[in-house]
Amino acid sequence: MSVVAGISTPRGTGGLAVIRISGEGCIDIARRVFKPSGSTEIADMKGYTCCYGFVRDEENKIIDDCILTVFRAPHSYTGEDTVEISCHGGVYVSEKILRAVIACGAESAGAGEFTKRAFLNGKLDLTRAEAVMDVISANSEAELHMAENLRTGAVFGRVRECSEIIRELLASVAVWIDYPDEDMSDITPDSALEKLGEVRTKLEDLSANYDTGRILREGVSTAVVGKPNVGKSTLFNCLSGFDRSIVTEIAGTTRDVIEESVRLGNIVLRLADTAGIHQTDEIVEKIGVEHAQRLIDSSELVIAVFDGSCPCTADDFELVERIKNRKCVAVVNKNDREQLFDTEVLTKNNILTVYLSAKEKDGIDRLGKAVESVLGVSPETFSETAVNERQKRCIDRALECVREAESAIKAGEMFDVVNVLIDDAEQSLLELTGERVTEAVVNEVFSKFCVGK
Ligand code: GDP
Repeated sequence: MSVVAGISTPRGTGGLAVIRISGEGCIDIARRVFKPSGSTEIADMKGYTCCYGFVRDEENKIIDDCILTVFRAPHSYTGEDTVEISCHGGVYVSEKILRAVIACGAESAGAGEFTKRAFLNGKLDLTRAEAVMDVISANSEAELHMAENLRTGAVFGRVRECSEIIRELLASVAVWIDYPDEDMSDITPDSALEKLGEVRTKLEDLSANYDTGRILREGVSTAVVGKPNVGKSTLFNCLSGFDRSIVTEIAGTTRDVIEESVRLGNIVLRLADTAGIHQTDEIVEKIGVEHAQRLIDSSELVIAVFDGSCPCTADDFELVERIKNRKCVAVVNKNDREQLFDTEVLTKNNILTVYLSAKEKDGIDRLGKAVESVLGVSPETFSETAVNERQKRCIDRALECVREAESAIKAGEMFDVVNVLIDDAEQSLLELTGERVTEAVVNEVFSKFCVGK
């Protein structure tokens, strides 16, 4: 593979910038742009060693004084010889050094090029390569934890377990096909069904974890609904950490239309249309019910706010009717005041209820726990292996084949028919791990990466 070079640090001003050069021949290129200050000969440098010196341009003028680190194949991130030049962290200086490196024969690295090379050189399977990107883009402890799980090969390991069972099955089926008249194969419909059932359960578990991952990565679309003046805006401000809207004593006078994400514990709530939080009386009258209903229907999670300091009204009963079959949490707000709200309607409908005071910011942590519980996301599930969308597609394809194979056996089909289906399942799993994958898939995976990684 050719030598590629790219700036691995973010574009901007900082303490350091790193220019990474990878591929056979990168040491030669480094020798041409970098002159050690002492007697060090770059070609003789061992892996994991560095030296101080100067990068010069084509006219032999010093661009910057830098540290050069050498990594020797296969003990580098990409698995190839690699050189990293750490220079002063300026946009101009780092780009000038990159240009000098390219002028000496390196090609400019594409998005994710270094990680792609690591994959192509067998340093990472595809799931671990994808995890590198997840680690970079992690926004919370839980996301980072999941990405680390992926990076340490948890998904790969579990997919491998399925592959091994499938391969055993395929081997038995092959013997059965090759020697149809003899009793060479130990396979029976029952034993095949047992193995397929095992694979199916494992794949179903993995597929189910997708939702946890998705919720943690992307957040959950949330509708905050309730009558005017129950404290929706106050709760919203409390979650977002600062005042975003006008909170008034007069019902329905908060007028801002805000679309925003707020973090609640481990989960990001995407408040898709906060106009619902800030309805005016006028809007309530005109489109209130319809609007709230649309908001409820289009959201994954509903937080219904009630005023604990007022008795229950017909509107509250109606709201409960609307939300009771949804993923919802009831907030009985203003628990710093005397409580007059009869919560029987909530308990009767098995709605998870949190008593809090948005104004006093008291009980928000309980709301976080309730939301996690309703969404089925708990600290324990973070240690699970959450799969991404591409991986889920592969898993679901494999699952479909396994289910079809089970049906075929139950319908009395011969193993040669079943064989094709099991083999298709195996192909999908190989695509997941990247062991057998088309160039197009690889390119798609790495196109989401940043340049320099
Ligand atoms: P919204 O119309 O549902 O958005 O309600 P607001 O957030 O505008 O709140 C209406 C009124 O209730 C304001 O005067 C708030 O200060 C008050 N309020 C909100 N939450 C609480 C609370 O927890 N305790 C008390 N005592 N008052 C609250």
